[in-house]
Amino acid sequence: MSAIADPNLRRALAERIRYYNELGIYDFYRRQPPSNNAAAVAEVEPAASAVPQPESREEMSARKSAVLATVVEENIFEVLHPKPEYGVADPAAALQIIREDLGEDCTRCKLHKQGRKQIVFGVGNPRAELMFVGEGPGADEDAQGEPFVGRAGQLLNNMIKAMGLRREDVYIANVVKCRPPGNRTPERDECETCSPFLMRQIAVTKPKVIVALGAVAAKNLLAINAPMAELRGRFYDFMPAGVRSSDLSSSGKPWPGARLAVTYHPAFLLRDPRQKGEAWKDLQMVMKYLGITPPKKADA
Ligand code: SF4
Repeated sequence: MSAIADPNLRRALAERIRYYNELGIYDFYRRQPPSNNAAAVAEVEPAASAVPQPESREEMSARKSAVLATVVEENIFEVLHPKPEYGVADPAAALQIIREDLGEDCTRCKLHKQGRKQIVFGVGNPRAELMFVGEGPGADEDAQGEPFVGRAGQLLNNMIKAMGLRREDVYIANVVKCRPPGNRTPERDECETCSPFLMRQIAVTKPKVIVALGAVAAKNLLAINAPMAELRGRFYDFMPAGVRSSDLSSSGKPWPGARLAVTYHPAFLLRDPRQKGEAWKDLQMVMKYLGITPPKKADA
């Protein structure tokens, strides 16, 4: 990669990257330049805008990471800062940095002006081996500032307990951190704007397994548009963009990424309790992978 000599181009690139950083986006990749070498600004895209299919996701993440490392090494883009939490060994401190980066009054997407009371960031063990990801806060969560505290949260607690774990053992977050009005499904632009912060939460927590609760979480994490019946019943490899293979997990070993499983959202299970058995099968698959032996009486 060669240095960019044109000062106007460098300035334009700096402004573009600063703009994306403001949105919480820090991971970039560089497309192969076309033969006629079009403007370099057009070649730099935020990682969050990429929508890789699961089969190619690891490859794309690795490429993005490799390019970012090259850029930093060669110091070509002086303005390209690593994420503020990068290099912070304590995941609790790193999560706090991400929370502060998000801000107390985030206005990055339109959900900020559609009746939210507060931002619902995430809760739980910053070193959790197991992470649950839902789609967004509901009324109870919006009121209390914590994900999954209403009726669906009670059911999630029961599911966690049935696995032989406690709520405080796992980490829980959502794709969007502000309540969509009327509990509507978060829209694509809202998910794309907010999800870089979820990716950063995953990157510092480094769970062994992520359970996507419902189709919205699954589709946003995996970038797959498929019905739940097709999404469930298997593991996917998941690595957030920008994570380096040398990053260590809480066990002190390099983090190979998470295994991601999909199951029904607890709110759906409240509406259709007949599907609880299917959800339990999904959780049993997770327990087997994590080596968890369930208590004798499972009440999920
Ligand atoms: S949903 Fe996320 S991006 Fe949108 S305003 Fe809330 S915190 Fe900001």
